Amino acid sequence: MSRVYNFSAGPAVLPEEVLKEAAEEMLDYKGCGMSVMEMSHRSKMFETIINEAEADLRELMNIPDNYKVLFLQGGASQQFAMIPMNLMKNGVADYIITGQWAKKAYKEACIYGNAKAVASSEDQTFSYIPDCSDLPIDEDADYVYICENNTIYGTKFKTLPNTKGKTLVSDVSSCFLSEPVDVTKYGVIYGGVQKNVGPAGVVIVIIREDLITEDVLPGTPTMLRYKTHADADSLYNTPPAYGIYICGKVFKWLKAQGGLEAMKERNEKKAKILYDFLDESRLFKGTVRKEDRSLMNVPFVTGNAELDAKFVKEAKAAGFENLKGHRSVGGMRASIYNAMPMEGVEKLVAFMKKFEEENL
Ligand SMILES: *Cc1c(COP(=O)(O)O)cnc(C)c1O
Repeated sequence: MSRVYNFSAGPAVLPEEVLKEAAEEMLDYKGCGMSVMEMSHRSKMFETIINEAEADLRELMNIPDNYKVLFLQGGASQQFAMIPMNLMKNGVADYIITGQWAKKAYKEACIYGNAKAVASSEDQTFSYIPDCSDLPIDEDADYVYICENNTIYGTKFKTLPNTKGKTLVSDVSSCFLSEPVDVTKYGVIYGGVQKNVGPAGVVIVIIREDLITEDVLPGTPTMLRYKTHADADSLYNTPPAYGIYICGKVFKWLKAQGGLEAMKERNEKKAKILYDFLDESRLFKGTVRKEDRSLMNVPFVTGNAELDAKFVKEAKAAGFENLKGHRSVGGMRASIYNAMPMEGVEKLVAFMKKFEEENL
C-alpha cells in the first residue's frame, strides 16, 4: 500500500488513523456483526454514534445550548436555497461576494427575494477580502451572508463583517474546524464536510434556535425546513449515516490532537512553510493579498501556463496529487486541510525548490 500526498480541495485528505479505524470496523462494528453502512438509523447503536458525534462537535466548537446542530444532505449548495427559504422573513438579505460559492449563494437567494450584493472583490479576481467595516446593510435585511474561506481563490475573512446587528450566516465549508470560532457571533454556520471534516454526503448546519420557525417562504418543501430536521434531531428521514459515523471519528481525532486551538497553531505553522517559500521564490508566486491569505487553500502560479502544467504533471509523478488550480483560475492550488501532515507540505516545498532550480 502506498498513499500519496493529496492536495485536493475536496473531497479531500482524511486522517489516516480514522481511515484505518473505519477499515477495522468495516465488517463488524463493535461486535454487532454488521457494518455501520448496514445498520438501521433507528437502532441504539446508531443513536449512540450520532449523539456522540454531536456531543464531540459541541465540545470542539464550544457550541452554546441555544444552537442546534443538524446533520443534513444536499451538500453546501442546497443551503444556498434553504437559507433564504427559511430566513428571508422580510424578503431582504445582504450578500458579500468574495468568490464563486458566495456568488452562487447570492444568485440562488435572488430567486426567493431581494438579495443585494453589498460588497464584492470580483474586480480583482476575488484575490482579496473587501473592507466590511461599514457596509450599506439594509435596515430590513434578514441576514448578512458570507463565504468565510474561499476555497477556489484562497482568501479568508480574518475579521467578520460589521453586520450592524443583523444575523450573520456563514459558509465555512473549507475552514470548518481549522481554528476556534466564536459561535455566538453567527446565526447560522454551515459547511459541506467533504473539505475538512469527512466524506461527501453530509452537510452540518449550526443554527441559533430562534431562527428555526414555521414561518418559512410559501412552498418550502418539508425536507428543506430547518424545523423538520431540528424537531427530529436530524433523524426525520434516513440521514447520511456512514458519513456521520466518519465525521464522528474525525471529531474524536481532533480532540486527541488537542482541539481547535492546537489545530490552529499547527495550521498556521504548516501554511507558513508554503507561504514563506512563495514569498521568496523567483519562479512561483502566491495570488492572494497577504493579509487575506487562507490557511487551508493556497493558490499559486509561475506566470506561464505551460510551466504550470509541467509542474502539475511532474508533481503528480512524484506523489503530490491534485495540485492543479480550479478551472476558473488556472495555475496551482495546494489545499492543506487539517489532515494534511506537516511533512506533506515540507516535501512539497522541497519539490518546488528543485523544480525552480531546474526551470529558471
Ligand atoms: C465546495 C464548496 C461548496 C459546494 O459544496 P457542495 O457540497 O458540493 O455543494 C460551497 N461552498 C464552499 C465554500 C465550498 O468550498
